[in-house]
Amino acid sequence: SIVALVGTACSSAETSNKQTSVKLIQDESVPYIGFLLDTLEEERWYKDKQLFEDHVKSLGGQVKTLAANGSDAVQLMQAQLLIEEGVDVLVVVPHNAEEGAKIVELAHKHKVKVISYDRLITKSDLDYYISFDNKKVGVLQATEIVKNTPKGNFVYIGGAETDNNAVLFRDGALSVLQPLIDKGDITLLADQYTEEWNPKNAENNMKAILTKSNNKVDAVVAANDGTAGGVINALSDVGLAGKVPVSGQDAELDGVKRLVAGTQTMTVYKPIPVIATQAAEMAYQVAKDKPITTDTTINNQKIDVPTILLEPMPVTKETIKSTIVKDGYLTEEEIYRK
Ligand code: BGC
Repeated sequence: SIVALVGTACSSAETSNKQTSVKLIQDESVPYIGFLLDTLEEERWYKDKQLFEDHVKSLGGQVKTLAANGSDAVQLMQAQLLIEEGVDVLVVVPHNAEEGAKIVELAHKHKVKVISYDRLITKSDLDYYISFDNKKVGVLQATEIVKNTPKGNFVYIGGAETDNNAVLFRDGALSVLQPLIDKGDITLLADQYTEEWNPKNAENNMKAILTKSNNKVDAVVAANDGTAGGVINALSDVGLAGKVPVSGQDAELDGVKRLVAGTQTMTVYKPIPVIATQAAEMAYQVAKDKPITTDTTINNQKIDVPTILLEPMPVTKETIKSTIVKDGYLTEEEIYRK
């Protein structure tokens, strides 16, 4: 077997005063890849985990995934743990863009390279980055909402400010909205990040905005399907669900069902199989000290990081079948099942 578990096994009667030490011994020839997720509380990250692990295994590598449940301290500890286990490379979805730099520092001390996955680790000597064009995600969201409602009172409900992607989504959305704000067509009633990307926080923020504006909201650009769900709950409470367009992202099953129901206007589909398999291949190459080719670089406020950026796709009710169903990302069965 590839992995040998060596340690002192104790019977339950002995455990009280014996230390159990378990160490993972690595077969040097088999690349061992660590995958550190921020959270498994959103549907997409399960897909990332499954597809990434499957692909690493199909290449002949070993992989272990750990999720930090939204804690920077836990994520750093998990990095430490995997480094002690002998990983050759760490693939990280940072909970916090800046805090992630500590993981890079620790990994480099142990000659382990780090690939930032989907979210960028900023202010660090990060080795590689793979993601979607996140600014474009925001452009697609705002474009679709403006197409639906060219004038009126807009609300921007963003993601977690500690996630570099959330900043890029907002930049992209505002690049579309700002000229219309300047022209006087659009009034931005509220522009708010959502702590921890938590749908409940988005719902509470939206409720307060509705109360304050006497429900005079014409359109909402929400950063992902989770926050969109919160926004739509708040709209529903005042009878506005389905009347006020709302954007989203991730093509989560609930989000896509809301497209069908007409309460959500669009979602952004980011093919997770593509990022997961490409990242697995990248990690496998890096683990074997092979050079990898990237398309571009992104400055992470310290260095220009070699980067692969994939294309996001807008999806409306009309294009569900030609995009996410065609790709096999979700099935018609699950989407249209009552
Ligand atoms: C990802 C989104 C996701 C969000 C919340 C972002 O960094 O790009 O796909 O919805 O985090 O987990």
